[in-house]
Amino acid sequence: MHQILNEEQDINSNHVKEEAKVTHHPVKVVIRCRPFSEKEISIHGKEAGILLDEELGTVDVLDPKNKTVHRTYAFDGVYGPERTQEDVYIGCCKAVTDSILDGFNGSIIAYGQTGTGKTYTMEGDLRNTEQQGMMCRVVQHIFSRINMDTSRSYQVNLSYIEIYQDTLRDLLNISGKKLTMHEVENGIYMDGLSNVTCRDFNDVLNWYHNGKVNRRTRRTNMSISSSRSHTILRLTVTSFDEKKEVKTGILNLVDLAGSESQRKAGTKGEALKEASKMNNSLSTLGKVVSMISSGNHRHIPYRDCKLTRVLQESLGGNCFTTILATIGPCVSDFEETLNTLRFSAHARNLKKTVKANFSPRCGEGGFIK
Ligand code: ADP
Ligand code: MG
Repeated sequence: MHQILNEEQDINSNHVKEEAKVTHHPVKVVIRCRPFSEKEISIHGKEAGILLDEELGTVDVLDPKNKTVHRTYAFDGVYGPERTQEDVYIGCCKAVTDSILDGFNGSIIAYGQTGTGKTYTMEGDLRNTEQQGMMCRVVQHIFSRINMDTSRSYQVNLSYIEIYQDTLRDLLNISGKKLTMHEVENGIYMDGLSNVTCRDFNDVLNWYHNGKVNRRTRRTNMSISSSRSHTILRLTVTSFDEKKEVKTGILNLVDLAGSESQRKAGTKGEALKEASKMNNSLSTLGKVVSMISSGNHRHIPYRDCKLTRVLQESLGGNCFTTILATIGPCVSDFEETLNTLRFSAHARNLKKTVKANFSPRCGEGGFIK
């Protein structure tokens, strides 16, 4: 478990207090494999391209020609096609959610080829309790803990950002202002970003639906409504107790654009241009991850694209991060699965120290209770 703050320590410093060094590894990388699709079964039968070992947390990638093991990767968790949304949530997202309420930052990032289940995992079917994805479960858990805690007052705020062709868009777009990014002491501040207060789960869901209407999608061979943009749903949970000591935790729920190569997706013309910008940001993400992982902290190219600037804290900074990499089971996905697992293996080596955001200053109005 995360180490909880020791609130008896010096609370009189004027600035945000950083303490409670955490002893366990703050980055978790897990793999989720979806079931075969009907299309795959009709073309390839159930010819598997991988072998999963959930106990050991390993994925064997099979050589498509001779079915021998081409390469084996190990992760913090592996979820096969039978694993439910609840299994994934309990296994790798609940602890991050708990830490937000204790004043830590967190990120849950879905990475993978289009059609492998990023959106299914993050969003799922919002109307079906069993099929609800991580977002619903995280938000429900936050409000249920808030409702049980009589010792603190809480405020939950929501922002919803899309990065499309390396441009930031405010999907809640309340202010109508253009978003600009500024470096601040503990990360990036997005000037003009809507940050709405939500009183309960339904408030979050309503804003989420409003934001989704503003997203961009385009048809490709790989998925009818494949996502060409990255989205970040950001929850900020602020709380204070009777001594007016404030804790703030920020959680980013990230659904990345598909990581597939454009040859396979069959993109041309305008769609290809769009895709190359999208892939640029994913390749910068890959570069950033592999540089941090290799211990090279000098010239990490966060600034090369908006995605890595926005995720800077999640990758190299003060944040508990779960990377949920999604793959397909089929032999036809050999190259893309390898790419996803390579990225994920690098991500496993991200190293950082996580501290709580704890301040003796009092928050402002609008608290839930
Ligand atoms: P992505 O967002 O990565 O492009 P989607 O989440 O849209 O992929 O998933 C593609 C299809 O596969 C959808 O029809 C989705 O319902 C289905 N799917 C993905 N993951 C699973 C899973 N774990 N179990 C059942 N169906 C899944
Ligand atoms: Mg998607």
